[in-house]
Amino acid sequence: MGYREVTLGSPPVVLTHTKMEYPASDLDTEAGSLRVGRRGWLGRYVLPAAAVGLAGCAPAVGPTLLASGPGAAARASTSAPFPVLMMKDAEPEVEPALAPVAVVEAPPEPKKVSVFYRPEYTLAGYSYDTTRKARWVADSLEAAPVAGLELVAPELLSEAALATVHDGGYIAAVRSGQPRGLAQSQGWPWDPGLFPMVLASNGGAVAAAHTALQMGVAGSLSSGLHHARRASGNGNCTFNGLALAARALLASGAKRILVLDLDAHCGGGTDELLGRDERVQLVDVSVYPFDVYRPQQRNTLDMVQRAADYLPVIRRRLDALDGSAFDICLYNAGMDPHEGCPLGGLRGITATVLAEREHVVFDWCRQHNLPVSFVLAGGYIGPALDTAGLTDLHRLTLTAASQMPLRQA
Ligand SMILES: [Zn+2]
Repeated sequence: MGYREVTLGSPPVVLTHTKMEYPASDLDTEAGSLRVGRRGWLGRYVLPAAAVGLAGCAPAVGPTLLASGPGAAARASTSAPFPVLMMKDAEPEVEPALAPVAVVEAPPEPKKVSVFYRPEYTLAGYSYDTTRKARWVADSLEAAPVAGLELVAPELLSEAALATVHDGGYIAAVRSGQPRGLAQSQGWPWDPGLFPMVLASNGGAVAAAHTALQMGVAGSLSSGLHHARRASGNGNCTFNGLALAARALLASGAKRILVLDLDAHCGGGTDELLGRDERVQLVDVSVYPFDVYRPQQRNTLDMVQRAADYLPVIRRRLDALDGSAFDICLYNAGMDPHEGCPLGGLRGITATVLAEREHVVFDWCRQHNLPVSFVLAGGYIGPALDTAGLTDLHRLTLTAASQMPLRQA
C-alpha cells in the first residue's frame, strides 16, 4: 500500500490516479466522493492529515474521497493552481474472492487399544512388585511403545462403587488406616497413599471392562486383585477389581461374564465374591496352591503341576466353553507361573510358553467375537527374574492385546 499523487486542477478538475485520469464529473462534491464512470468505486481512499490543509479538505475514510459539504470542492478548486493530495490506498472494498478449496477430510486416526494407568497406581509408600510394577510397565511403554496401544488415565473408583463388592467397615479401614490390622490385611504396612492407589488401580480395572465391552479389547496395568475378600484384603490384594468390574458390567446390563484367572495362584477372593452368581463363570488355572477353594456351580479350578500340562489344560478349558455365550472375558493375566518367579513359578513355564498362552487366550476371544479386558495380576522379581524381565513378560499380554481387532464405537 502506498501513496499516490492526485492533482486537483481548476477547471477542469483532473484526478490523476496512477495511469488513469478522471474527469471532474466523477468528483461528486455533494456526496464528497469519487466515482469512476460506471465502473463504480475504484477503491477506498484515506486522505492523510498532512494533505488536508493543502487541499482545503477534511480527511476522509472509506469510500469518501473528499469531505462532504458544499464548500469542500470550492476550496479545493480555488486553492493553489494544482494542489497535490497524497492519497493512500486502503483495503479494497470488495472482498477478494476465495479460491476454490478442495475439502479433503483427514483420514480418521486409527483407533488404539486403551490400557488404563495413572501415576496413583503406585502411590503406596510400601515398595513391592504389586505397588510398583504398573510404573515399570508404563515406563517401558513410553521408552518402547507397543504399536496400536495407548495409555489412558482412568477415574478413581468411587466409594459407592467399592461398596457394591466390599464391606463398608473394610473400606473405611483402608481409607483411614484404622483398625490397623484390617487396613493392612493384604500384607503391607498402611500409609495414606494406599487408598488413592487402590481407588485408581481398581478404577482402571472397571474402566477397562467398560471399554472392552464397547471396543472389543482393553486393559489396565492393575495388579493385586483376585485374593481380596468382601471384608478384608489377602495375599497382596486390597480390593478385588475383577469382582468390581463384573458387578459394574452386570449392573449396566451384561448377562454373562467369564472370569479367566491364569495367575499362578488360585483366585479364592473372586470365588467368594462371584462364585455363586449364576451369571458369572470362573475358569481358574493355577500352578501353586495358595488361596485354594472348592469351585462352585460349573466353575473350574485346575492345579497344574507339570509345565507340559499348562497350555493343554488352558486350551481344554477354553475349548469346553461356548465363548459366544458370554458378553465379556475378564482376564487376570498373571505372569507369576513363569519359572523365574519366586512366588508361584513352575519350572518349565518360560517366556515362550507364556507368549503362547497369551496367543491362545486372545485368539480364542477373537474367534468367539468375545470382548476381553485384562489386568496384569501377579509377577514378581527375584534372583532369576529382574525388573526388565518381568516387564517383558507383562508386555506379552500387551502385545497380544494390541493385535486384537477393535470395534468401531
Ligand atoms: Zn499370583
